[in-house]
Amino acid sequence: MSVITKNQVVTFHYTLKDKEGQQIDSSVGGDPMLYLHGHGNIVPGLESEMESKKVGDKLKVHVSPDKGYGQYDSEKRFCIERSHLPSDVEIQPGMVLELHAEDGDRMMAAIVAVDQKLIEVDANHPMAGVDLHFEVEILDIRPASPEEIEHGHVHGPGGHHH
Ligand code: ZN
Repeated sequence: MSVITKNQVVTFHYTLKDKEGQQIDSSVGGDPMLYLHGHGNIVPGLESEMESKKVGDKLKVHVSPDKGYGQYDSEKRFCIERSHLPSDVEIQPGMVLELHAEDGDRMMAAIVAVDQKLIEVDANHPMAGVDLHFEVEILDIRPASPEEIEHGHVHGPGGHHH
């Protein structure tokens, strides 16, 4: 029986909860998730636990922020002047902006608060600093195509279409 190794396409169902047991997300009852193992498609702490598992395996995986979406970085929460944004951009808390730094870097930042002059934004991943508790069931494993390996992601149903 095949097991999960690098360059296998894995189909799985998952439920994600935080450390209080509140459900954050789940694929159960909907389409399962697919990923290409060994290419960083999923958070490192989950990917490493998937290694060598087989179809039918159910696992519970606790992923700390260091192996998940990173620690919350308070320096990534900052204010920008409203005048730096084009005037036709609608600005409301909860919206996500794409910011361009002077060095050419781009980042996505959610608007936290707005006043007349300043916009407070948070460029942390929405799940930065969160302890992730996954319940996973492995549904299918297949070898990736050479094209999938070259692209580093899954093609076809549940994957990329291009
Ligand atoms: Zn592709």
